[in-house]
Amino acid sequence: MQAITVLGATGSIGVSTLDVIARHPHRYRVFALTANSRTDILLQQCRQFAPRYAVVADEQQADAFALRVREEGLAVEVLAGVAGLEAVAAHPEVTTVMAAIVGFAGLSPTLAAVRAGKKILLANKEALVCAGQLFMQAVGQAGATLLPIDSEHNAIFQCLPYGKTLVEAGVRRLLLTASGGPFRERSLEEMEWVTPEQACAHPNWSMGRKISVDSATMMNKGLELIEACWLFGTTPAQVQVVVHPQSIVHSLVEYADGSTLAQLGNPDMRTPIAYGLAWPERIDAGVPALDLFVAGRLDFLPPDEVRFPALRLAREAFIAGGSAPLVLNAANEVAVAAFLAGRLPFTGVARIVERVLEQLAARPLPGDLSALVAVDALSRQCAEQEIKVHA
Ligand code: NAD
Ligand code: MG
Repeated sequence: MQAITVLGATGSIGVSTLDVIARHPHRYRVFALTANSRTDILLQQCRQFAPRYAVVADEQQADAFALRVREEGLAVEVLAGVAGLEAVAAHPEVTTVMAAIVGFAGLSPTLAAVRAGKKILLANKEALVCAGQLFMQAVGQAGATLLPIDSEHNAIFQCLPYGKTLVEAGVRRLLLTASGGPFRERSLEEMEWVTPEQACAHPNWSMGRKISVDSATMMNKGLELIEACWLFGTTPAQVQVVVHPQSIVHSLVEYADGSTLAQLGNPDMRTPIAYGLAWPERIDAGVPALDLFVAGRLDFLPPDEVRFPALRLAREAFIAGGSAPLVLNAANEVAVAAFLAGRLPFTGVARIVERVLEQLAARPLPGDLSALVAVDALSRQCAEQEIKVHA
């Protein structure tokens, strides 16, 4: 029986995770659920899954939530803030942590789980982008098990022999597929004034708003390129991004003998989530089998880094190293929030990220979390400033 903490339970990945867990009550027990502010959903989840703990990250809302839990007579202990998140991530009774908080906010609880040697199901790609070296070192030192949930990385993981380096496995390249997002065929001029609603209407996947905008700018693929480099111990030169509008082939591994292995399936995150939960076994995820006759055809195209500069910016940031990916991520989080709030045009997102990267040159990153938090805060300030000046 695995005891599971779901960080970010009320989000798109969190809800899909609980859907898979509910199908297998004899395998999985929910130990803790966390939310930032959507406490109505959290309360409903507490009724259904009866966790030992529920954490409300937004401390302002925690007391009111605890009161509602008591009024309903639920046997759930309510914790608050980052300390609460870290406590349920590292608790000795927990075996498995689903890391599904969005953005840099997910780093400290995910790192707490890593340092406690848990099995980590990693959806929160920003944590790895921001703290790659620190994160992977901590995984090694604590003997944590890191399983990628991001569909592309999960696909690559499924196509690789476990426990071997890419060199040992005879891997030539990793091929990371990208849908191209809702604006795949638009010109730069047409993209300038698209609305948040248009940007969040992803053609194939239903996701949170931040990652939906990242998919539309293709920053998501840039973050995933960095994620792949850390997870699989490789460099951007060995990772080819392939635009694949149908989102059926979730990624591929090219081997020295001429073989290319791929993982295919309907675009539904419950598949990689179920794979992470049950690994190395496989369980029902509630996802219908892929019907190749319905899919019909699969297209593959090279990415266009002129219309989608975010991909280039992410690659350059990884190569620059040190603080650059952390700066890139912080600027992107601020710019995406500004776009969603109607304060920045869509194409302004990549422009702001580029300007912030120009201003805050890459520096060596000290190996402790508080130093990362400081660089993150500085980058956010700089991004806000740039938005005021240029938006
Ligand atoms: P979402 O916006 O739907 O959910 C985010 C969750 O994080 C919510 O539970 C929210 O309460 C919590 N949260 C937000 N800010 C917080 C804070 N400051 N402190 C604590 N908790 C906070 O996002 P999502 O689409 O589920 O994505 C979650 C993560 O998974 C992201 O890193 C995303 O890149 C990654 N991911 C998502 C998908 C997908 O299909 N949705 C696919 C691959 C990877
Ligand atoms: Mg992905």
